Amino acid sequence: MYLYHLKAKNIVMSDTPLLVTCGLPYTNGPCHIGHLRTYVPADFFVRYMRHKGEEVIFVCGSDNHGTPIVISAEAEGITPREMSERYNEHFETTFKKMGIDFDRFGMTDDPTNHKRTQEIVQKLIDNNHIYKKIINQSYCPHCQMFLPDRYVEGTCPHCGEKARGDECDQGCGKHLEPGEIKDPICKICGGKAELRDQEHYFFKLGDFSDFLEEYLPQLKGTSNARNYASGWVKEGLHDWCITRTLNWGVKFPGSEELVVYVWVDAPIGYMSFTEEWAEKTGGDWEQFWKGSSPVIHFIGQDIVYHHCVFWPALLKGAGYMPPDAVVASGMVKIDDKKFSKSRGYVVWTNEDYLDLGLSSDYLRYYLLSYTSHTKELNFSWKEYQTRVNNELVDTIGNFFYRTLHFAAKKLGGIPQKEPEQEILAEIEKAILETERSIQEYEFKSAIEAIMALGSFGNAYIQTNAPWKLMKTDEEGAKQVIRNCLQIVKALTILLDAVIPDKAQKSWELLGYGDKVIDHTLSEAKTGFDSEILPNPEIIFDKIEDEKIEEYEKTLRMRVETAKLKEKSQKKEENMITIDEFAKVELKAGRIIEAEKIDGSKKLLRIQVDLGDEKRQIVSGIAQFYNPEELADQDVIVVTNLKPAKLFGVESNGMILAAGEEASLLTTKIKVAPGTKVL
Ligand SMILES: [Zn+2]
Ligand SMILES: [Zn+2]
Repeated sequence: MYLYHLKAKNIVMSDTPLLVTCGLPYTNGPCHIGHLRTYVPADFFVRYMRHKGEEVIFVCGSDNHGTPIVISAEAEGITPREMSERYNEHFETTFKKMGIDFDRFGMTDDPTNHKRTQEIVQKLIDNNHIYKKIINQSYCPHCQMFLPDRYVEGTCPHCGEKARGDECDQGCGKHLEPGEIKDPICKICGGKAELRDQEHYFFKLGDFSDFLEEYLPQLKGTSNARNYASGWVKEGLHDWCITRTLNWGVKFPGSEELVVYVWVDAPIGYMSFTEEWAEKTGGDWEQFWKGSSPVIHFIGQDIVYHHCVFWPALLKGAGYMPPDAVVASGMVKIDDKKFSKSRGYVVWTNEDYLDLGLSSDYLRYYLLSYTSHTKELNFSWKEYQTRVNNELVDTIGNFFYRTLHFAAKKLGGIPQKEPEQEILAEIEKAILETERSIQEYEFKSAIEAIMALGSFGNAYIQTNAPWKLMKTDEEGAKQVIRNCLQIVKALTILLDAVIPDKAQKSWELLGYGDKVIDHTLSEAKTGFDSEILPNPEIIFDKIEDEKIEEYEKTLRMRVETAKLKEKSQKKEENMITIDEFAKVELKAGRIIEAEKIDGSKKLLRIQVDLGDEKRQIVSGIAQFYNPEELADQDVIVVTNLKPAKLFGVESNGMILAAGEEASLLTTKIKVAPGTKVL
């Protein structure tokens, strides 16, 4: 069959099943558009491969370990397991609603993954890839505990920006090893942390440089993953501290107080979920991880290091096969602003989208068609509306409805004719083009190839106008509609990977009672099961302007709320304690005399009586007071300011004044000079 000639380059041969995985969502918050940026293309790829006749196993699961979950769970007064189960269910349900259907969606905290992680770590120990080392770790003397990763904040040792314990999130983006962070502050009590010695375990990543240098150029997938990873290997690899002092996680073999770092057991989840799938189905998980069947990871670009450097080394060191391909998606922007949950630039999958009754397919289409997989994707409601209305509704929807309506209503079903060669050639062209693009993980081009067939169909029915032809040449009209129906069928199978919900409806409107996912692309050019067509329906609805305005307003309000929140947080940060305030020494003073300073319009040299001493203070009030009228004036003075020279004149304190016009502060009742202000 023609399809099989194309498989040589990137994708597997037909009798080898394929394992596709998606980066694991972290169970401390709900699903958003940033997640979907990776999951939707992965699902598209899987569906397409299945339509091609490939056997694909699609697994994923949630990432449950690490400190952020412990901190979030503590804040809510629940256990990390409870929090993980809640979000695990949330993700699985949300993905299903988005048409993303995994063969197994597991949890990294489940027994399979604990067992597999310990087995792999033990193998790494046995193979001499792990060593012990005493390190200086952040420790909070007040909370009496070591502070792993997110439990500590401080300054990045590389760029000097504020950073989290495990990564410089606001500055240079570098991964930080335990103990590296400067000026550590405990996240639990806000107190200063200190450094204490503790024994930890390190993975000799450096030992795998040669292996990675050979492996990475052959790694399939997107070039961004390959190139970033090769760059890091060239820069030189540092050993990874793979243990943490925490109660939550997979126990390090032989230790009671240490768990493995979350980035060890998270990717091992891919393997455990495959095992769980195999257990359920009687399949063979080892063919993917020890054999020749390829593994393809779909991930976000921000975790390339973990998947292309750390993970292959870990697998290699423990005697498993490294992945065949890593497909890394670009990041997401909202209204041309960097995606940020805290700043409100986010679209929540349920709250902002599915719960409003919006079609999961429309968002899938946007995510797949907007830009190349490795580029940054911008989401805006206006652009969303334009694409849905112009491309899906006007082109595909219009063509489908006109064809199905004419066939059902005017011709009583599918005409008994064969599609013309020209039409079959057009379908074949679209399939070949789609195939070529998918082999290069260029999903946007694949969508364009499919949509081009839609545009062809739309133009074809418009030009040949069967509704006119019917009057003069009924057989000709039937031929046109038969051709159009063939294109609708081909498009339905192709579009099932993009918009599965709408494609299934279209499939049913073509008279089929089964699932379109069970049909291969080879059927795009074959006939129909039945000549009877059900009543035609409109399956693509336009998105109205008022709706878009509403959605935009929600986004704007969220950004505003985030701004206000940030403001009040800053206010809070600016607050001082009573002890800090008590450091300022304030006293009542009486001005003895004041005089102008030569050459300065603003400054006065003022002598102040402070009871047991006399002070000279330079004050910027010359524009508002005559020096003579200041004599005998009672004022309030900051008396413990460090001395400063203004216009060459020494100043030993500050006279307090309010407002632009420098209204001098004084006491209500006369007090003796030198009286303390308390
Ligand atoms: Zn930094
Ligand atoms: Zn503390």
